[in-house]
Amino acid sequence: MIQIKVFVFNELGVNSFVAYNLNGACILIDPGCNTTKQHRELKQFVDENQLKPACIMLTHGHFDHVAGVAWAKNEYNCPLLMHKDDLFLVENASQYAGLFGIKLEKPPGPDQFIHEGAFTLGDFEFTLLHVPGHSPGSICLYAESSGFVVCGDVLFSGSIGRTDLAGGNHSLLIRGIREKLMTLPRDTVVWPGHGPSTTIGAEYDTNPFLS
Ligand SMILES: [Zn+2]
Ligand SMILES: [Zn+2]
Repeated sequence: MIQIKVFVFNELGVNSFVAYNLNGACILIDPGCNTTKQHRELKQFVDENQLKPACIMLTHGHFDHVAGVAWAKNEYNCPLLMHKDDLFLVENASQYAGLFGIKLEKPPGPDQFIHEGAFTLGDFEFTLLHVPGHSPGSICLYAESSGFVVCGDVLFSGSIGRTDLAGGNHSLLIRGIREKLMTLPRDTVVWPGHGPSTTIGAEYDTNPFLS
C-alpha cells in the first residue's frame, strides 16, 4: 500500500507529494519547495517518518513543479526521473520562472527518462500514463492497488490543464484524459498538480471539459 502526503509549495501553489510505504522507501514527486521554510517542511516529514527517497519523479517539466529539484537532489542524492519530451522545459525552467518574477535554482539534468508502461522501483509499482497536451511529456502515476493517480496538470477538480503554453495541444489532452484516465476505476483518487483531490468518477460525471 502506497501512502501519499501532499504539500503545497511555492508562489504557484503546486501540489508536491511524498509517496511512501511501510518499509520506509519514498518517492518525491514534483518537489516545488523554493524557500528555506518549505525545504525544512519537506525534510521534517521525511526525517520524522524515517523515509529514504529512492528517486525524484516529475509529472512534467513546468518550473513550478521543478522549483525544489536542485535542493532535493543535493539533499538526498537520488536520481531524477522524467519524460524526455519535457526536457526543454526543465532546461529552461529558470528563464520561465523569471517571467513570473520567481527565483529558481537551475535544476540538474535528469538521470533517467520514463515512459508509458509499468514502472517498478523497489516495492513501488506504478503504471505510468503518458498524457501529452498540457505539456508534451506529461506523465500520470497510477497506483492501481493503492487506488490513486497523481496526474500533474493534466486533470483538475472541475477543470483540465491549460494548453496555451509551449507544446500544448487541447484536442490531444482531451483525448488522452478520455482514453487513459476516464477508463480507470471510478473510485480512483485523483491528485492534481494544483488544488484539491477528486475522483475519476466525479470528473467523469461533472467535469465540464469532458462532457
Ligand atoms: Zn504545468
Ligand atoms: Zn503546475
